[in-house]
Amino acid sequence: MIVGGGFGGTSVARRLGRRTEVILISDRNYLLFSPMLAEVAAADLDPRHILAPLRQICPHARIVIGTVTGVDASRRMVTVRSPVDGSVTIWNGDALVLAAGSESATFGVPGVTEHSLPFKTIQHALAIRTRLLRLLEAATVTPDPTLTSVAIVGAGYSGAELAASLADFLDRAFKKYYWSAPTPSVTLMARRASGVRSPPTASPRQAALPAARGRELRHKTATDPFPWSVPPIDFRTKSGTAG
Ligand SMILES: Cc1cc2nc3c(=O)[nH]c(=O)nc-3n(C[C@H](O)[C@H](O)[C@H](O)COP(=O)(O)OP(=O)(O)OC[C@H]3O[C@@H](n4cnc5c(N)ncnc54)[C@H](O)[C@@H]3O)c2cc1C
Repeated sequence: MIVGGGFGGTSVARRLGRRTEVILISDRNYLLFSPMLAEVAAADLDPRHILAPLRQICPHARIVIGTVTGVDASRRMVTVRSPVDGSVTIWNGDALVLAAGSESATFGVPGVTEHSLPFKTIQHALAIRTRLLRLLEAATVTPDPTLTSVAIVGAGYSGAELAASLADFLDRAFKKYYWSAPTPSVTLMARRASGVRSPPTASPRQAALPAARGRELRHKTATDPFPWSVPPIDFRTKSGTAG
C-alpha cells in the first residue's frame, strides 16, 4: 500500500509492477511533472502536457483517489476520505510506503504567507498565470509600475526557473499586446547575495539555465520597497528596465 502518487509513490508502484498487489492512494489522479511547472505559469505549456494519469503510468496498481487522514503504521492501516462524498474507508496492506511529499517552506521570511501566491501545484501555476494577465490588463488602464512588477521569493532552482519563464512571458505579452502598460519587471529575492543555488541533482546544463537564457542577474541593495528583508536580485526582461 502506497500513499502518494508523486514521483516517489509512482516509482515504487512501477518498480513493483505485476510482482505484487499494489494499492496506490493519492488525493489527485495524476502525477505532476513539477520541473515544468514554471512553463505552465508562463503560458508556454498547457497543464495537460505536464500531468500524467496515474492509471496510465501505473497500470498494474489499484488506484484509490482520496485524502489520507490517518495512518496507523504499526497495523499498516490508513484512513481515506473520499473526495466525492467525504465518506471514510480503511485500507490495509502487508507493507506501507508513505510518499505524501512535503509542504513548501517560507523559512520565516516575513510577509510571504500573507502576500504571496504559492508555487507547487498545477492550480498554483494557473493562479499565477491568471493573476499576471489580470494585472497586465489593469496596468493598461492605470499605468502603475507596481502592477507589472513581480517579486519571487526564493532563489533556488525553482525560483530561478520561474523568474526566467515569467520574464520571457511578460516580455512577450508586453511587446505584443500590453505595450501601453509600464514595462514589466521580475525581481528574484535571494537570502544571500551569492546568487542562484541549484539543487544537487541539477545537471551542468540545468545549473547554467538562467545564464543560458541570456538573463542578467544583478544584485540590489536591500533598500527595496518590498516587505521582505532579503537582498533581491534583478531579473531583467529583454525589453530593458529591471524591477
Ligand atoms: C516548481 C517545482 C519545480 C521542481 N523542479 C525540480 C527539478 O527540476 N528537479 C528535481 O529533482 N526536483 C524538482 N522539484 C522537486 C520535486 O517535485 C520533488 O522533490 C518531488 O515531487 C518529491 O516527490 P514526492 O513523491 O516525495 O512528493 P510529490 O511529488 O509532492 O508527491 C506527493 C503526492 O502525495 C499526494 N498527497 C499528499 N498528501 C496526501 C494525502 N494526505 N492523501 C493522499 N495523497 C496525498 C500529493 O497530492 C502528491 O500526489 C520541483 C518542485 C517544484 C514545486
